[in-house]
Amino acid sequence: MNDLSAAGAAALDAADPLAGFRDRFVVADPDTVYLDGNSLGRLPRETLARLQDVVAREWGGGLVGSWERWLDLPGRAGDLVGSLVGAAPGQVVIADSTTVNFYKLAAAALDARPGRRAIVTDPGNFPTDRYVLEGLCAARGLELRWTTPDRLDSALDTGVALVTFSLVDYRSAEILDLAAITAAAHDAGALVLWDLSHAAGAVPVALDASGADLAVGCTYKYLNAGPGAPAFLYVRRELQAQLRQPIWGWFGQREQFAMGPAYDPQPDIRRFLVGTSPVLGIHAVEVGAALLAEAGIDALRAKSIAQTEYLIALHDAWLAPLGFTLGSPRDPARRGSHVSLRHPDAARIALALRAHANVVPDFRAPDVIRCGIAPIYTRYADVWEGMDRLRRLVESGVHTRVDPASRRVT
Ligand SMILES: *Cc1c(COP(=O)(O)O)cnc(C)c1O
Repeated sequence: MNDLSAAGAAALDAADPLAGFRDRFVVADPDTVYLDGNSLGRLPRETLARLQDVVAREWGGGLVGSWERWLDLPGRAGDLVGSLVGAAPGQVVIADSTTVNFYKLAAAALDARPGRRAIVTDPGNFPTDRYVLEGLCAARGLELRWTTPDRLDSALDTGVALVTFSLVDYRSAEILDLAAITAAAHDAGALVLWDLSHAAGAVPVALDASGADLAVGCTYKYLNAGPGAPAFLYVRRELQAQLRQPIWGWFGQREQFAMGPAYDPQPDIRRFLVGTSPVLGIHAVEVGAALLAEAGIDALRAKSIAQTEYLIALHDAWLAPLGFTLGSPRDPARRGSHVSLRHPDAARIALALRAHANVVPDFRAPDVIRCGIAPIYTRYADVWEGMDRLRRLVESGVHTRVDPASRRVT
């Protein structure tokens, strides 16, 4: 990474084996430097065609008869997403939101460990996970034990029912040790629930091989399934028959259309479904996941590492002298697919980047600008251009004149 010129970026793009995938996505404004695929991924062109077809032909034409094939969608798309996170078929379904799935699986885990009164998580975990856990603890009179993953051992004892972390930290992009944490929790007799939202489609995940019990994740970030697309959930095969989720809905029912008198859940992963599947959204999940599978998760990871390394090299050369510090691990093996740049004026800089430089990262309080690399469509030229516009913006001082209260979404 010695050549930090624009020509150097162009040369890296020319040598990129995944470069052709960018054309498979809608790029409405070629001047926009989009570094927020870790928050909302770009729209695949095929999604436009697929949704048009499903709406016109399957809904418009087939009407209610299309449910015959729609019933298999949550599992079919789930298996595809499972292939990206190291899960053999039959262990992943697409349903509900990440938050709701997190609640369902956390509650199921607590019910499977009666007598144990504590949940362990990180105070820096993603807000929705923390809030759901707070709610579960309030409703059931449980203890919420806050600990960082490096201090997990001191928080574990025979009173812990559930340990839950995000595999990739949403602020720093730090990757946790999936297998080691899972093993430590299992040694204490607890179940483990992983949130893969910032990992799925960005870093290889070995769910089956690591012995993980449960996982959830969203599909609108690196999986490019679109705003509000339904989430995925994973339940290890051996646990499926033992676990019961708290929302007993008819889509989890054996012989659903017998409309029987009492809840009798499916024996397999389908028992973690609740109500009518979001058919359009699941089709978008299928298209997004298929694109990543076609590129190959290992090839995507290799490009992601090369691009985050490149971004960090530009940070060191251009941004560190302007008061930025790196908020992500330097070791690429411990870093996911975004890079956090910290600066005391980060809120105004992030706003000014969008408003005055057509660069789209996001901001996380108190001082983090997150630059997301989505290797399936991000070019080295985007990274170069984004960092070049960022340094010129800060040098010009334009950001000191924006109002940080002017937006509700950061
Ligand atoms: C984005 C994200 C979510 C999103 O949850 P929703 O229910 O889709 O709003 C949850 N957890 C983590 C770690 C995330 O990064």
